[in-house]
Amino acid sequence: MAGATVIIGMGGLGCPAAVALAAAGTRRLTLVDGDVIETSNLHRQPLYGPADVGRPKVEVARERLVHAFPGLEIETWVKRVGPAEVDGLLSAHSLAIDGTDSVGAKFLLSDAVTRTGIPLVSGGVVQWGGQAMRIDPGSACLRCLYGTAPREEDVPTCARAGVLGSLAGVLGALQASLALGPPSPPGRTILHVVDGRSFRFRTLTVRRVPGCPGCGARV
Ligand SMILES: [Zn+2]
Repeated sequence: MAGATVIIGMGGLGCPAAVALAAAGTRRLTLVDGDVIETSNLHRQPLYGPADVGRPKVEVARERLVHAFPGLEIETWVKRVGPAEVDGLLSAHSLAIDGTDSVGAKFLLSDAVTRTGIPLVSGGVVQWGGQAMRIDPGSACLRCLYGTAPREEDVPTCARAGVLGSLAGVLGALQASLALGPPSPPGRTILHVVDGRSFRFRTLTVRRVPGCPGCGARV
């Protein structure tokens, strides 16, 4: 959907991000998620209820959002995003929001920013902590921050390690705010880090690494 925002992952981050964007006046969204709703999701994914367990997340999310925000246009994609479709998906939109819970997906999306020229608001939340940053063409990317992607099994996920549900809501809303805000300046970006125990917010400047394999090719 040209000009629309695409949210990849309609879980603990994607649900509050979608609500915040719709409430702010966004009129066109594409929701992408291959998963069905599970009981363990409900504490952090407030668009869904017990009666929705077993249904595709994006279908239920579309019903709830259209009911709450008449006039909102929503496309849905019941599928996980892989290397074959990531560039086409981002290129068909004006901005992407990463609501995934997988290291591989986060780096896949980050790497696609330079190739497609489409900005991405990356984010993650697990246990008591969360972080978010806006990656624009020419700004720093996820590989500038971390270097090589860590192995999937070395990184805690919400499914394996748990998460404070309300903290996911904070991070999703923050991602929506970053999506609605100005682009990151060339050569750097701001990493927002939230501690869910103290609710202290920190901001760190991430500078682009010369020759970065994620964002260095075209800039
Ligand atoms: Zn980079």
